[in-house]
Amino acid sequence: MTPSTDLNLALFERAKRVIPGGVNSPVRAFKAVGGTPRFIKRAQGAYFWDANDQRYIDYIGSWGPMILGHGHPAVVEAVQSAVLEGFSFGAPTEREVELAEEILKIIPSMDMVRLVSSGTEAAMSAIRLARGATGRSKLIKFEGCYHGHADALLVKAGSGLATFGNATSAGVPAEVVQHTIVLEYNNIEQLEEAFVLHGRELACLMIEPIAGNMNFVRASVPFMKRCRELCTDYGALLVFDEVMVGFRVALGGAQSVYAKLIPGFEPDMTVMGKVIGGGMPLAAFGAKRDVMEQMAPLGKVYQAGTLSGNPVATACGLATLREIQKPGFYECLAAKTQTLTRGLQAAADAQGVPFCTDSEGGMFGFFLFNTLPQNYATVMTTDNARFNTLFHGLLDRGVYIAPALYEAGFVSGAHTDEDIVASISAAGEVFKLLSK
Ligand SMILES: *Cc1c(COP(=O)(O)O)cnc(C)c1O
Repeated sequence: MTPSTDLNLALFERAKRVIPGGVNSPVRAFKAVGGTPRFIKRAQGAYFWDANDQRYIDYIGSWGPMILGHGHPAVVEAVQSAVLEGFSFGAPTEREVELAEEILKIIPSMDMVRLVSSGTEAAMSAIRLARGATGRSKLIKFEGCYHGHADALLVKAGSGLATFGNATSAGVPAEVVQHTIVLEYNNIEQLEEAFVLHGRELACLMIEPIAGNMNFVRASVPFMKRCRELCTDYGALLVFDEVMVGFRVALGGAQSVYAKLIPGFEPDMTVMGKVIGGGMPLAAFGAKRDVMEQMAPLGKVYQAGTLSGNPVATACGLATLREIQKPGFYECLAAKTQTLTRGLQAAADAQGVPFCTDSEGGMFGFFLFNTLPQNYATVMTTDNARFNTLFHGLLDRGVYIAPALYEAGFVSGAHTDEDIVASISAAGEVFKLLSK
């Protein structure tokens, strides 16, 4: 393809004139990997097609929501009939109640949920609620965990535990992040020290239990256990950000995975998004009744939204949640994902390329290392140039993975065995280039 016939390039140039960087969310710009972002025209099942009508096997699934694949008939039908009934009312609907009931049935740690429109909004509101409910200001987050772009959460670690974090974005005043403590993921010693120093002032500890925003890093069982114990001991709320992993790593989310490993385990609050909207703008947060009843209009914690619980989005989310509860869905999804990761591992091994991989349910990660990293700093030691060779090699062969080494991958119910085999074979060719 010459530059003059590349419609992705033409669209990117046009987009850059009217949208900062040509994109409405930074990672889409291919800045880390170089090259021209693909402008997507349409999608079906496990595939999407770009402006040049090039087909790709899609392993980002809109960063997780498209767990059924694109254009699932039951979801399309639900959305089409919802649209005919009206787009938005600014008044309550039965469908919101149904969706809330469905979520609570699937995730028993919550008694009530509130629906919002994005993961950012859900995480931001959850923190306000944690602060309102505890009457405390401080919060703990972990380096490499992403909880959306609310001001208080755009923070990286400061120079020491007694100091507070530094904003990772311009436009976030130091005063706004002064209550945010940023710790290393999976570091129990640091966690314990932080609770000794700040425990009585902590409103909450927010964590991605399986972190998908530093590729794929699990919280170790001892670490998660300690998070739970310390939150309980000091009266801070343990907030699970399950925006990415909820309904993705298992029907019951990452909390159901940890509940199998730690008897009686439950978070105090859960933040959800992505899969619950099935590709529409929808997210939620929930907790036990006593905490949720602190929310307006019952309580003193204010939170609102013109499009919250949108009738079309809730129809899409409900239809998605009903499909994923069909018998065998997660067994099949996990098996497919493991076929992919095992195949990738074998292909890398065959070429002597350092590689390791992990997955849970329909989410996976891989690293160009021999052992799985435990924290963000280790993830970020990945050789950028080698990752970019892998990314572009796959892209050229019609396989679309996340255009950044710190993002996870997603398999959907629509991926076929043939898609998985073709993806492994494409990766085998690229590993050959990396072995030289
Ligand atoms: C995607 C994501 C968010 C933010 O959700 P948006 O809908 O993009 O605002 C928050 N937390 C986690 C763990 C995420 O993966």
